Parts: sequence; structure tokens; C-alpha cells
Amino acid sequence: MPRLFPTAIAGSLPKPAWLAETESLWPAWKQEGAALADAKRDATLLWIKHQEDAGLDIIGDGEQSRQHFVHGFLEKVEGIDFERKVRMGIRDNRYDAMVPTVTGPLRLKGRVHATEARLLAAHTRRRTKFTLPGPMTIVDTLADEHYGDRVKMAFAFAEILNQEARALQDDGIDIIQFDEPAFNVYMDQAVAWGIDALHRAIEGLTCTTAVHICYGYGIQANIDWKQGLGAEWRQYEKVFPALAASRIDQVSLECIHSRVPAELMALLAGKDVMVGVIDVASTQAESADEVAATIEAALRYVPPAHFIACTNCGMAPMAAHLAQRKLRALAAGARLVCQSL
Ligand code: ZN
Repeated sequence: MPRLFPTAIAGSLPKPAWLAETESLWPAWKQEGAALADAKRDATLLWIKHQEDAGLDIIGDGEQSRQHFVHGFLEKVEGIDFERKVRMGIRDNRYDAMVPTVTGPLRLKGRVHATEARLLAAHTRRRTKFTLPGPMTIVDTLADEHYGDRVKMAFAFAEILNQEARALQDDGIDIIQFDEPAFNVYMDQAVAWGIDALHRAIEGLTCTTAVHICYGYGIQANIDWKQGLGAEWRQYEKVFPALAASRIDQVSLECIHSRVPAELMALLAGKDVMVGVIDVASTQAESADEVAATIEAALRYVPPAHFIACTNCGMAPMAAHLAQRKLRALAAGARLVCQSL
């Protein structure tokens, strides 16, 4: 049956125990050298299969080849000193992290994600999506001793992100998504220059482009932060009108179990909206009925032609069996709604 709207994941999926430590945000690899390259490839193929079997329409690589959603990209960037780690509060001091330092002009050492992107494009016939960290989120995860200006450094990253994004498009990727959790923390800066930096990152792309804005992984620091955000989370309200006017095609947002007022989704009129109908912070899989109810409520604000049922955020730190159950619930819930419509 043709679907009225597709299903997709935000980006990351858990890594198998033979690839890396499980249920960790910064998992240590369990292999090295050629064995690590093989294990990354096998894990990517496995999750392509799991996503297809669950019934998802848009398939990703599950970020199996990167240790962390930002640092996976940074590893291939010249101008960053990884030995020079600085303790820094990131996301407006929500987390304390040891971050590397930018010490010179930024340049790509070569392709970053060619292997996994080509693997993805070659092994599914469904639409493919690939994620990259957004420029504002990258500069919020690094110390700077070279540019002396956050905006200037963000645009330098946007330029090299663009280089990799164009290559991903040539690899056969259909949707390129930039992850910008920082947009939910620095709303004024997101409007002042964050979206412009994204425009630089998507320059020349003819594939579909997307931005993911969330309240973070289901880890304790985020759960605590969200407790203090009040009865209504209105961060999106500042950024969505600017995104609606932007050249980005799709916007990914949190919905289920969040305190985001549903009507804020209407601020994205004209954009494809990836609505989070799977909670990445809960240890229970949603039922298909619960997913269907969340979709039906969101369809009051987003028309089916612009609707994509998605997860709230990445699932990297989750148990793999739970992530699989959640993928199946996502597709089953979407199927229920499509049948009833
Ligand atoms: Zn996220």
C-alpha cells in the first residue's frame, strides 16, 4: 500500500557489542585497523537490514562508523589539535566536556564518510539519508585558538561541511541532514547566523536538505536539563519562523513525551516536518497505538504531504534490542494511521 507519509530515524543507532562498547555516548571501539573497518561495515549493513525489516521508508547508516556525532567528522579535519584538550562547558554549560582545540586554518584531509555512504546507497533501494553535525553545534563543541570569532569559525566549518555534503550527494545520498541541537540553546544566534551558516553548508546541493533540532540524547544531563525548562518548551518558537523562510527542505523536531506545544509545528508551514514520535529517553518501546495517536495529533498541524514520522533524536546510547522494537513501533504506528486515513 502506498504510504501517505514516510518514516525515518533521526540518525544514530546503537552499536553492536562486537563493534564498540554498548549503551555509551563515547563508546570505545572493540577492534582496530582492518578488523575495525570490517566491523563498521558489517554493523552498517546490519542496521540497514533492521531498518528495512522494521518497515522504515528512509534509511540511514545508523552512524555506525563514528564514535560521536560531532567528533566523527572532526577526526578528518586539519587544523584541530586533539592532544590539546580543554575542559569546557558546552550547550550553555549543560555538559562539562574535554574538547579539542582549533589551532589553525580548517581543511578536510580527505573524504570523511565515503565508505559508509556508498555502502548505504548500494545496499538499499529505499531513500537514503546521511547526517552531518551542523556548524553551530560543531563550534559549540570545540575550543578555539585560531579564529577568535565563533561566527567566523562556524563559516569555516560550513565550507568544509559543504565539501563533504557535495561528495555525499555524488555518492548517491538522497537527503543530507545537519544536526543542530545548539539551535535549541542559542536561539538568537541560530536566527542571527546559524541558519546562514547552514545555507553555506548546503550551497550547490540539489538533493533534499534537512536540519535536526532536539533536546538531546536520552542521557542524564539532558533529562535533568529538561526538568528545568518549565511546563512548556518554547525554544522552537524563535527558530522555526526563520527556518520556514530558509532554503532547508526538512526540519526534524521532538514531539512525543516532550513539553513542546504542538501548535509550534505550524510555524514550519511549507517545510517537510520530521515529527518525533519515538522517545529516545524512555526504556520502554512505544506501542503502535501510542505512535499512531502521536502522529494523528501532529497531523492537525502538519499536512500529510509534508509529514515524516521520525524518532525524537538519535538512539546511539540505547540498548540495541530496544532500538529495534522502537523502529518496529514507528513503522507499525505510521501504518495504522495510513490505513485509517
Ligand atoms: Zn538530536
